[in-house]
Amino acid sequence: RQEQYRALREVPAVTKDGVKIGLHLNAGLLVDLTHLNETGAEGVGLFRTELQFMIAERMPSAAEQQTLYEAVFAATGELPVTIRTLDIGGDKILPYMPALEEENPALGWRAIRIGLDRPALLRVQLRALLKAAAGRPIKIMFPMVATVEEFVRARDIVEREKAHLRRHGYLLPSDCRLGAMVEVPSLLFQIDEIAREADFLSVGSNDLMQFLFAVDRENRRVANRFDPLCGAAMRAFRLIAERSAAQGCPATVCGEIGGRPLEALALIGLGFRDFSMSPASIGPVKAMVLSAHAGEVAALIESELSRVADGASIRPALAAYAKSH
Ligand code: PEP
Ligand code: MG
Repeated sequence: RQEQYRALREVPAVTKDGVKIGLHLNAGLLVDLTHLNETGAEGVGLFRTELQFMIAERMPSAAEQQTLYEAVFAATGELPVTIRTLDIGGDKILPYMPALEEENPALGWRAIRIGLDRPALLRVQLRALLKAAAGRPIKIMFPMVATVEEFVRARDIVEREKAHLRRHGYLLPSDCRLGAMVEVPSLLFQIDEIAREADFLSVGSNDLMQFLFAVDRENRRVANRFDPLCGAAMRAFRLIAERSAAQGCPATVCGEIGGRPLEALALIGLGFRDFSMSPASIGPVKAMVLSAHAGEVAALIESELSRVADGASIRPALAAYAKSH
């Protein structure tokens, strides 16, 4: 199998009916980037910056952060990279930060909430990122955005940092796109607005499923209680795919769901064309893409979703279809 997947490295991920699917890598440490070459991924779709902070002994200084990001860009070369600002809090604790006593850390002070409440922290990171990306394109996205207003405030901070760097004669990134993670269900009900404001969206299905179904993603007793291929989840994904396309805003899926071939097939059927996943998933998902017919799957899913009015899973029907093709 591994050999088979390695042989697909240079093969473009195109479905039988000619639909190009982008396959990108999730990464968080420099070592993860060594997989870029071996998997043939088209770039880094999610760089989780908090990992470098979590293994540090103290808060990395501005200069240290810049060095880290320069190393990321050196390792990725010309390939596109989407960097996520610090997603700390919840279960991602920085050993050198005072632990918060929170009843519900997953719902607590975390991610962009910290960034907006402590803008100095976010500003230092953004400045380091912008400096490290001097002269090259960069995509930056914000985690756990719950309202359009939060995204707009985060974007304003980027704009201010860019203005500051410009004033001081620094070379800016050649192109800077700003995106929102779609992982808090409230964004589903502001999907047109966020798609108009953001340059791109990235669906964090791990958290989106956790919050949509109120199941702790780390709790084995409940984590598998709801099938991501059930009607409710599929309709949530369909909404994101349809509304972002209608607004001309590209939407990627960067949660684990995109790395599972059958689930990724469903998402292609719903209209997603870009995925970011762990290195080991690229081969299996690419093999699926090469044997898939996007139009057929779209029709199958539409008919299944209109049938499973009780919210049942489309997994059996999709699995049967996949098996016979
Ligand atoms: C997600 O929530 O799906 C995601 C990609 O982010 P993380 O797993 O880092 O929370
Ligand atoms: Mg998340």
